[in-house]
Amino acid sequence: MRLTQLRHKLAKQELDAIVITQPENRQYLSCFTGSDGALIISAEAAYLATDFRYYEQAQRQAPDFTLAKIEDKFPPRLAELIAETGARRVGFESTHVTVEQHQRWAEAAEGFELVPIKGIVEELRAIKDEGELALIRRAVEVSDAALAHIVQWLKPGVTEKAVAWELEAFMGTHGADDIAFDLIVGSGPNGAMAHAEPSDRQIREGELIVLDLGARVDGYCSDLTRTICLGEPDEMLRCIHALVLEAQEAAEHAMRAGLKGSTVDAIARDLIEAAGHGEHFGHSLGHGVGLAVHEKPRASKTSEDVLRAGMVVTVEPGIYIEGWGGVRIEDLVVVREQGIEVLTTASKGLTG
Ligand code: ZN
Ligand code: ZN
Repeated sequence: MRLTQLRHKLAKQELDAIVITQPENRQYLSCFTGSDGALIISAEAAYLATDFRYYEQAQRQAPDFTLAKIEDKFPPRLAELIAETGARRVGFESTHVTVEQHQRWAEAAEGFELVPIKGIVEELRAIKDEGELALIRRAVEVSDAALAHIVQWLKPGVTEKAVAWELEAFMGTHGADDIAFDLIVGSGPNGAMAHAEPSDRQIREGELIVLDLGARVDGYCSDLTRTICLGEPDEMLRCIHALVLEAQEAAEHAMRAGLKGSTVDAIARDLIEAAGHGEHFGHSLGHGVGLAVHEKPRASKTSEDVLRAGMVVTVEPGIYIEGWGGVRIEDLVVVREQGIEVLTTASKGLTG
């Protein structure tokens, strides 16, 4: 199915074949999860070229592909395989292949030309099938459970690093294969950094804490942010939190297939701007999530991406004020024809 869709796209771009080396794209098309290897796909052929370390794994995970063993140098072997397919115009992933790799491939190329291509597999990946959605749901359940756990576990004096390790350990023992990205824990003024790295700072009573976490299950990611308060939140925190929540809910309420990423972003941004905090919302509203934690589509000020049924995207407005802190609330949702399905079930309350 995925190969058929890809071949259709290749034909449209008048490509005879494509070389896939980007890890998530390689996994998406072949199910091969090894860290090294290339797919060569033409109208008829589908090769998985990899080395000795992965022969057994490749045969087990990617039975639809012909295993091409790389015993020595890759570029001449690549050229040989492409020649076998008879392809003349061969696409490669220009956002992934290095200049040096390209040079070596081009030197080995005989009888075909290499054509830079981008986004072709990423577009297919943007729309999830039921099997992918099931894995994303499992990843969401793990991070939601981790958040509920940490709210109970937190107490004054623990450090941001300790919180990050506790979240990671919880997810690792409750169904995650890995964390989806480096976890973000920003307490007090550190919350103003949208991507705060957990530090040795001790969290104090009454402080806000921005927690951004994700689990990975069978390759698929979740992405969840909540802002909580240890103890009683003050008036300012309550107001900012209510505003971010209002912006998020407005966007979620309006979202459906057919809307542009920039339109969805504007729904949340307009509300935050109207309240005088436009300059404090410096990132985009959301991004696609799947095998990668950031993938197509984008919901940003300038995004031309159009939401389609089956896309999985985050909705994550935020307000960040230097010296004070920040509030971000992030859900993961599936786009449907008439609206969305919110996958995240974690409480949005400031005190959990
Ligand atoms: Zn996140
Ligand atoms: Zn995110």
